[in-house]
Amino acid sequence: MPEVRRNTLLHLPSDMPAPRTTHWDEDDEDDGPPRIRKRWYHYLPLFLAVLLMLLPHPSLLLVLVNYHLRVLDSPARFLIHLLVTYTLSFLAFCSLILILARDPGPVTSPKAAEAAEDVDEREDMGFMQALLATESDGPHDKRPGKWCRKCSAPKPERTHHCSTCGRCVLKMDHHCFWLGDRCVGHRTYSAFIHLLTCIVLLSVYIAVLCIQAVYFAFTNPLAIDESTPLHDIYLAFYGIIMALVFGSFWMYHIYLTTTNQTTLENVSPFLLLRHLPPLPRPSSGTQILSDPPLEHQLSHAQRRLVRDAHFHVRIYDVGWRKNWAQVMGWDQPWGWANRLLVGGGCKGDGQAFPRNSRADDMLTRLAHDLVSIDKD
Ligand SMILES: [Zn+2]
Ligand SMILES: [Zn+2]
Repeated sequence: MPEVRRNTLLHLPSDMPAPRTTHWDEDDEDDGPPRIRKRWYHYLPLFLAVLLMLLPHPSLLLVLVNYHLRVLDSPARFLIHLLVTYTLSFLAFCSLILILARDPGPVTSPKAAEAAEDVDEREDMGFMQALLATESDGPHDKRPGKWCRKCSAPKPERTHHCSTCGRCVLKMDHHCFWLGDRCVGHRTYSAFIHLLTCIVLLSVYIAVLCIQAVYFAFTNPLAIDESTPLHDIYLAFYGIIMALVFGSFWMYHIYLTTTNQTTLENVSPFLLLRHLPPLPRPSSGTQILSDPPLEHQLSHAQRRLVRDAHFHVRIYDVGWRKNWAQVMGWDQPWGWANRLLVGGGCKGDGQAFPRNSRADDMLTRLAHDLVSIDKD
């Protein structure tokens, strides 16, 4: 058999991908084809998103000038509303540009990471200290590093292979078609939260502003021209719809950050299997699960057990303050301007994360339950 394999490999072209040898990636985000080069139409959703962000501005300016400046004759209100709406718009575009410009989470070799750490040592000191301070909460994963068979490279903790991008991304949250067809990961997640926050605040602000203007137009129909109330109504609806759509999405990500989960971890209960400690040997019979177990090996009852456990086990939840500090770097006293502008710098190497010791106990119990339920 080894003879046959050696002969086959001799005829393979040099650029062929390495044969699959492990099962680590079986339950990854997906198993699609290799990376497709980006073409102009991959950026269409991004253009649409930018258009949606710019669309209300002509009507908004018209309402501010006609209603606040001419009808109410209040330059102070006009300036305040102009300042608030355009500051929020500017901040939203700042984080959008950062998401597009920054690599979401490059997986570097240990040597390169070491070199980068030396360069950034002074810059990272504050957040590194914060990360070190949380180490007492639980041990880091001491198991051997994982390997991505598609990238033929090490795959650190919480890293996932995105088949659309054709690469591994540190602490990958999700692949977003709306943001330039790229991943949101360790280095861009804080900017993503910042972008959502700015859009939600802007939508709520415009909705409240225009609902007031609509009320005024109905109660004082002769005081204002005919077209301004139409712009008021359009903007009020636009603001309400955007606030509802992005608000629900924003609240979901607030929940994920507070409990230290990524979208992938939250929607994939069977990722939990990777974190199980070595399974105990069954007292009788043979073990039919591999170590770690794979999703397709589980019986119906075992799958239900894992799904139930997924609701309770928060592997990286080390308390909401520390969870937020990991994403936004709140422990840095000098980083407020950076966080206000783009949501923070996403410090930390993204390769290892403090673990919740209670979750480790729950995983040990789950490993026992999986074996005992299998026996039953
Ligand atoms: Zn990979
Ligand atoms: Zn991706």
